[in-house]
Amino acid sequence: MVVQKIYHCNNEILEWKWSSDNKLMPQPFWTSVFLIDGLLIDAGAPGGVEDLRDFVKSLDSDDMIEKCVITHNHEDHCGGGRMLQEEFKIPVFASKLAIPLLLKEKDYPDYRQMTWGENYQPFKAELLKSSIYSKSGKYLFDVLDTPGHALEQISLIERKQQWAFITDAVMPKYQMIFGRDTDIPEDISLIYQSIKNLYEFTDKMNNLLLFTSGKGILKGRKFLKEKMDEINSLHQEAHKFQVEAKQNGLQGKRLLRYVLKNMFTRENFIGTLTRGGLSHKNLIMSLLEWSIE
Ligand SMILES: [Zn+2]
Repeated sequence: MVVQKIYHCNNEILEWKWSSDNKLMPQPFWTSVFLIDGLLIDAGAPGGVEDLRDFVKSLDSDDMIEKCVITHNHEDHCGGGRMLQEEFKIPVFASKLAIPLLLKEKDYPDYRQMTWGENYQPFKAELLKSSIYSKSGKYLFDVLDTPGHALEQISLIERKQQWAFITDAVMPKYQMIFGRDTDIPEDISLIYQSIKNLYEFTDKMNNLLLFTSGKGILKGRKFLKEKMDEINSLHQEAHKFQVEAKQNGLQGKRLLRYVLKNMFTRENFIGTLTRGGLSHKNLIMSLLEWSIE
């Protein structure tokens, strides 16, 4: 296993990143937890529970975790929830939508077991209110619903510091998404709407920092605007090629292939590796389901 500790913002934020070192993986896939003044955001992957335990044990009493918030129900974000509750008596909070999902066993495909480990341990989280303070009270995080990547996805925003913990709510680039036939049915129109809401919620925050899970820090509201423009142009493009395909008499799978070829040339290797779970094709289908006004 590979663990990295990175300090941000004058050491006020500690990012603990974890990746499996499985030799079959083409590159490390990271998941992050963030510790800010006793508040832990997310709880890592099932495969990282032992490393997370060592991390918690290594903290001195000033840094000790007082509470944890889970941003969404995916296995790479909630894997250590039960361990934190049972072994360290740390209360773990989640949104109303996430609580019943966290209580269920998880059945996810091989490639994700390989990346994040197996044996998720279900647990009962406590209900997260509309805002939450850090341990000393110096930071207040507003909870914003940011569905799309997951319906229950939330983001935590500290207005004074201009920090937004978005974890998986926004991706650095939109080329592929998980489709309806997976347990992560991403919806590009919801993702777009959530980015727009984040953009509006962070109005006047000129030094906004967006903390992602394992994908670094994205800087500024400008980035959110760029993502909205990027998704808008993908949306227009998909519909334009759909019209062309129909004019050529194509339907169904052949229509999708035409749009795919024109937008991305061919399916990405991850699309093949995940047997279409995470693919260009799923992004195109979601773009086409989203009507043009
Ligand atoms: Zn996720």
